[in-house]
Amino acid sequence: MSLRSQIKAVQSGLPITVMHEKWVAENPDPVYSPEAQAFAAGQLAGITGSMRRRKRMFRASAAGTCKRRQVLAYIGHPQRKEEITSTLGNIFATGNFLHLKWQMQGLTAGWLIEAEVPMDKPEINAGGTADGKLVTKGGFEFKSINDRGFTYVMTYGPKLDHQDQTDNYMYLGDMDHYSIVYENKNNGEWREFRREREEANMRRVAERFDELNTFVSDRRLPKVLDDCQAETGVQFRQCPFRDTCLKMKMFPRAAA
Ligand code: SF4
Repeated sequence: MSLRSQIKAVQSGLPITVMHEKWVAENPDPVYSPEAQAFAAGQLAGITGSMRRRKRMFRASAAGTCKRRQVLAYIGHPQRKEEITSTLGNIFATGNFLHLKWQMQGLTAGWLIEAEVPMDKPEINAGGTADGKLVTKGGFEFKSINDRGFTYVMTYGPKLDHQDQTDNYMYLGDMDHYSIVYENKNNGEWREFRREREEANMRRVAERFDELNTFVSDRRLPKVLDDCQAETGVQFRQCPFRDTCLKMKMFPRAAA
């Protein structure tokens, strides 16, 4: 990164960029801190073993997805078993390890003080796990993305669902800023974006959790999306409830 870019990064308040660039430049053969190594050992056990089990809750990471899907996930409705091809499995593994790389680097370089941070608010049945907490007390979210997606975020800024997600974490974790780092999987380029807490967004997040809780307590399902009525669209194709959603006439019994 050029001196001009570094000055610009500092002025624009990007807490990761300057420290990370410096650390990467000074550590071509990195030796990770004991804290980073201990974190990685725990994560590797988690990645290959059983995931941490928690009370059912509405997930911050699901912000921006169909509300009906969020309610079905919350009550534990059975999900379609997707076929995991070797290519897809490889994509998931790459994503996991890129996360781990950034978290270990952040813990070692000092811009991250904690990684995989639970942000649960059981009183509103909501929660999630942040990728990390920054030394500036803000949050850290990492996204690996292909070249086309990277060009999009460089042109228009963070994707809307990622903005929603970080608003959710700021609300749940009571934070006043958040950094999203996108890494281009095609060439290793990366870019940090900073988001500030805005009270209008916090109200919108609170209303969303309130609305989702009301659906469950009233035993009502949010309506089917228009695209899904026609069994089309990305949301439908990626929904784990697409086999049963359109057939549901009543609120389903919660899974045990
Ligand atoms: S099939 Fe469509 S409407 Fe139904 S839960 Fe999934 S995304 Fe929502």
